[in-house]
Amino acid sequence: MHRMKKISHLTFKALLIGMVLLLSGMTARAEKVELTRIDPPFWWAGMKNPNLQLMVYGKDISKATPVISYTGIQIREVIHVESPNYLFVNLVLSPDVVPGTMKIDFLVNGKSKLSYAYEIKQRKIDPAQFQGFDNSDVIYLLMPDRFANGDPSNDDAPGMLEKADRSNPSGRHGGDIKGIETHFDYLKDLGVTAIWTTPLLQNNMPAASYHGYAITDLYKIDKRFGVNQDYINMVENAHQKGLKVIMDMVFNHVGTGYYWKNDLPMQDWYNQWPEFTRSNYRGGVVSDPHATKSDYDKMVRGWFDTSMADLNQQNHLLAEFLIQNSIWWIEYTGLDGIRQDTYPYPYSDFMALWMKRLLEEYPYYNVVGEVWLSDPQSVAYWENNITNKDGYRSNLTNVFDFPLMQAISSAFNEEEGWDKGAARLWDIISQDYVYTNPMNLVTFADNHDGDRIYSKLGEDDNKFKLAMAFLLTTRGIPQLYYGSEIMMSGKEHKGHGDIRKDFPGGWSDDTSNAFTREGRTREQNNAFDFMKKLLHWRQTNTAVQSGKLTHYIPENGIYVYFRYNDEGSVMVMLNNTNEEKTVDLSRFSENLQGYSKGRSVLDRTGFDQLTEIVVPAKSPVIVELVK
Ligand code: CA
Repeated sequence: MHRMKKISHLTFKALLIGMVLLLSGMTARAEKVELTRIDPPFWWAGMKNPNLQLMVYGKDISKATPVISYTGIQIREVIHVESPNYLFVNLVLSPDVVPGTMKIDFLVNGKSKLSYAYEIKQRKIDPAQFQGFDNSDVIYLLMPDRFANGDPSNDDAPGMLEKADRSNPSGRHGGDIKGIETHFDYLKDLGVTAIWTTPLLQNNMPAASYHGYAITDLYKIDKRFGVNQDYINMVENAHQKGLKVIMDMVFNHVGTGYYWKNDLPMQDWYNQWPEFTRSNYRGGVVSDPHATKSDYDKMVRGWFDTSMADLNQQNHLLAEFLIQNSIWWIEYTGLDGIRQDTYPYPYSDFMALWMKRLLEEYPYYNVVGEVWLSDPQSVAYWENNITNKDGYRSNLTNVFDFPLMQAISSAFNEEEGWDKGAARLWDIISQDYVYTNPMNLVTFADNHDGDRIYSKLGEDDNKFKLAMAFLLTTRGIPQLYYGSEIMMSGKEHKGHGDIRKDFPGGWSDDTSNAFTREGRTREQNNAFDFMKKLLHWRQTNTAVQSGKLTHYIPENGIYVYFRYNDEGSVMVMLNNTNEEKTVDLSRFSENLQGYSKGRSVLDRTGFDQLTEIVVPAKSPVIVELVK
């Protein structure tokens, strides 16, 4: 801060000199200043936090003095930084400020050189209406570039460095927001309740821009996906259909093509190294009490990739920029939740501050963090948790259950053993004591960064169904990866393109259209119908959504657990062996007490008495218990 004060002082001095020159009868040369943009582009009246930081960008804009005359809005501070092309203007908005257009004048030598009409909008949504996502939801992860091309005219938008090339697995294939919206009915029919799209913000990068994680404008939807208004419409239409929308945000890095690149506000805006230094990707370093500073620095300050500039969130101006950016998108669009990328990579104190600020504005909001670590206690460090020994408290509401994903990937492929097969599932679930609330874990079998579940399970339809039955009935908030419902395959070692293939039917010249029953093969319909049945049933059953979980140690390759609440109880039996098994139910009497009958969720078979049940090889039996 001392530097800023000094620069402000210098500016004051420059102004004085200008006045002296004028007084001495010389003609002061008109200073040329430009205004390119202000971020955030607009704001709202009546936000809980009265402060607003404007980042003003334009050639030599720092030579100008901003002046505002708007009832209820004061300039608290004007901050000059290293680059002369930025001004940070901190405003305070009174709680009763009236929405309208606020004129910002930029004065040079006392004269207005530029004027900007800054909109203070009326809030459209009561903050209490932001309810986030919860155990009643099933999240469908999709990559917009690879899901469906609803508007071929935007495939090669002007000004974008990378052109569409569907023959390139790492290229842009043309999918877009329109394509997602067009298939809302498909998603409703399948039975998911929320969509998580990988980032839709501008990625004006020369290559691999389709994945979206190298953002080059944090306030703009990429033209090849649509425009900001299209995204707003998509969220609104999703809500009308009863679908929630989760936005993928990235605070660790931006694309090296961001306009900041050649004109950083301050040199410490990015984490800088004498030469390119990659992160060591060891998220565990952050919570490691024995870690070296050099390992920590590499983890947090190292760059994720050559195309991704590592942001320094310890710079307070950047930190505020990012926090406001996320609030801007929520308020602007009515988003239901956020998935935050590479959670352990930014500074952890900043992430905790971000969550705190977000929850102050939207108390019932949800953020799920990508904490890609393999054991429950490492993941739990990042969950809203008061027990961390180092005092760290993340405030993060949800984390992905990576340990369970790994267990799912192995369990159904293995012969049963003491610590193999179904025992892996039991083992991970039994460690739930490390979490503040294990129900808030977002569970998944695969995502866009690894082998597809169908491939992990050797393209075995029965194993696939077993895995999906487990995912949709165990604790947590399940997340599916697009195309799993039609058993899409893909292996990461063949390249990311292989696990991010185009959804068949998303492009008008596709030979088959898996969005329709007629366009799916018999096997695909079989998988789709299985998923659909479970997903729609899950929507109606609160016990399986959020009821308590009690599980029995797997025996003879059978894993049995119950989900129950005051409204009912569900018994799930997973046979992870290659033989049909007749299971004596007496071992489960603790949970069967008070119930006399049951009904199979998958085939509606009735069970007149609860003594024994036949579970086919490599299959699930899910029973709704009846009193
Ligand atoms: Ca398109």
